[in-house]
Amino acid sequence: MTKVPELFGSMVFNERVMREKLPKDVYQAVRQSVEKGRQLTPEVANIVATAMKDWAVEHGATHYTHWFQPMTGITAEKHDGFLAPTGDGGVIMEFSGRELIKGEPDASSFPSGGLRATFEARGYTNWDPTSYAFIKEGTLCIPTAFCSYTGEALDKKTPLLRSMAALNRQALRVLRLFGMNVQRVTSSVGVEQEYFLIDREAYNKRRDLIYTGRTLFGALPPKGQEMDDHYFGNIRIRVSAYMHDLDEELWKLGVLAKTQHNEVAPAQHELAPIYSTANVAVDHNQLTMEIMRKVAKRHGLTCLLQEKPFAGVNGSGKHNNWSLVTDNGVNLLEPGDTPAENAQFLLFLCAVIKAVDEYQDLLRISVSTAGNDHRLGGNEAPPAIISVFIGDELGAILHALESGAHYSQTPHGQLQIGADVLPPFPQDTTDRNRTSPFAFTGNKFEFRMPGSALSMGDPNMVLNTIVAEALRQFADELEQAEDFVAALNQLIRRTVQEHRRILFNGNGYDESWIAEAARRGLSHYRNAAEAIPHMLDEKNIEVMSRHHVLSPVEMRARCEIMLENYCKQIHIEAMTMLEMARGDIYPAAVAYGRDLAEALLAKRSAVPGLACRSEEELVSRLSALTDEFYLRVQALAAAAAEAPQADAAARAKYHHDVVLARMEELRKTADTMERLVDCKRWPYPSYGQIMYGV
Ligand code: ADP
Ligand code: MG
Repeated sequence: MTKVPELFGSMVFNERVMREKLPKDVYQAVRQSVEKGRQLTPEVANIVATAMKDWAVEHGATHYTHWFQPMTGITAEKHDGFLAPTGDGGVIMEFSGRELIKGEPDASSFPSGGLRATFEARGYTNWDPTSYAFIKEGTLCIPTAFCSYTGEALDKKTPLLRSMAALNRQALRVLRLFGMNVQRVTSSVGVEQEYFLIDREAYNKRRDLIYTGRTLFGALPPKGQEMDDHYFGNIRIRVSAYMHDLDEELWKLGVLAKTQHNEVAPAQHELAPIYSTANVAVDHNQLTMEIMRKVAKRHGLTCLLQEKPFAGVNGSGKHNNWSLVTDNGVNLLEPGDTPAENAQFLLFLCAVIKAVDEYQDLLRISVSTAGNDHRLGGNEAPPAIISVFIGDELGAILHALESGAHYSQTPHGQLQIGADVLPPFPQDTTDRNRTSPFAFTGNKFEFRMPGSALSMGDPNMVLNTIVAEALRQFADELEQAEDFVAALNQLIRRTVQEHRRILFNGNGYDESWIAEAARRGLSHYRNAAEAIPHMLDEKNIEVMSRHHVLSPVEMRARCEIMLENYCKQIHIEAMTMLEMARGDIYPAAVAYGRDLAEALLAKRSAVPGLACRSEEELVSRLSALTDEFYLRVQALAAAAAEAPQADAAARAKYHHDVVLARMEELRKTADTMERLVDCKRWPYPSYGQIMYGV
């Protein structure tokens, strides 16, 4: 048995190690730098760097890297050795404060959305002391933020850190009005991660999985996810070994993982960590995805993180659990049971409701990718329309506050916040609305729209910023008030009145919800190509720059990159389809048709006048299908070649409306052929083989 406490964080330069390895004053300086954002002096940085290096070398590291998250959405590393020549032919292991704090990777190979002209390749990585350094595969990884020479953010971390600062500023203003003695407010995040595990051999036989992470062809198996009673059979043992191994690897890196089965689709699973500060949670989710893939290889498996690896089977998402926590450990979204805390809770609850209503589009955009389009609104994942679920009890309380009506649970009629105690309502809401994209779940909100491959940097950056904006407006108003309690009552009532339309407790999968949402005036962008350009709507640019999270220039760059990524993804998929269609599927279908025709002729010449109806019919059907297939291949090739060079938004729309549409047509023909062709002749493992090993 592995001793978990010993294993946990054994590869992390965490608080415990720092206290042990750093002189007291240096340790204090690092703490200050984490808490107050103060720069370390060069002397202190040198001491920290040396201690980090000594610790890393003790644990077998030979290299270090600035670990960062460029706008590709995955992590990047550039490894350097600790080695320094001594001048007498020998070497010593060296690592300076400068090397710890600042790095200069070649920025030209990462997307910048025109922020950095290609001739100005310089970009900087800056140490983020709020996320611990760790050792991964013999390399000391230092979490860093990545920016251009001129200081614009080129990554997912920088704006997230800025948004946390904005949220802290505004939340503290509000808490001061309640007389709370608090130094710091952070957003805490727990990311549940869904994934598929499939046999590596099957994976290696499918170029669509290899190039794009999802199957671009594939007829549905006779058995779908409706009865996953004993799916997997022999693979199951490998899966549990995998999960065990994965847990251990993650624990070493200080990721508080607890793996578990997920019962939705065959071969699909879920991992949920214990929550931490938003910044660390986002880093840890990146690490989790990376380690998931690596460990799978060791077990002869492949981990698929794409949002929709298999058509007709549920896709994978992430659930972003989010709340606000003070430095003295108070969760501001915890209803509590004293009047003052209730009032404060209700105000923060209202801030989230207002924020989500006013910036539905920004939240929607933050999860918009080509992959996620296949799940949102697909009757398995939340719809592409944002609404907030708060449950019946809380709904009734807000209603009473809004209308000034009688609330049955209060002894003296009208509910007055600041005077009344909210009735306790069930924390473990068993009837949680699984179809809601944004649900209050007892003491946190759960945002369920993000796709499984997404960096959680953007959704959390948006959440933090828009809630900061709502709190800013609340603070502005309440700071002016003569009678605080009266103003607070008034503000809460007005907020509920103004933003009632975003509250929805019904079934989000229901067709009628789309019409109802339209009637309420909620925004509904059906796909990423439609959604992303709205990032640049004036109000969105305004809120991001007001809180110094993203400048207008950075917003434009990000919008451009997201649209580019979208087009690139679909283009790669189209090219992969064409290669598979021309190189494998068409030849296989034609060859099978020819064999059938030969069989038909042979039978007829052996027994003249034989009907051979099945062969005749199959040969004709296959011939018609291969003709259709051929035409659709040509159509897709033409569509992919003719993509307009115009602006990014137009290009994205074209990829959605034209390229993707033709891909879907081509797939339909192929999947029909797959059902007719001898399965031993079909060039790829079937859905059944991949998911059930049959
Ligand atoms: P579910 O019922 O949604 O599957 P899980 O128990 O699997 O719930 O996951 C809940 C997630 O929410 C965990 O990652 C957990 O750490 C996280 N969580 C719990 N409390 C908070 C909080 N106050 N802030 C942020 N995340 C939280
Ligand atoms: Mg969940």
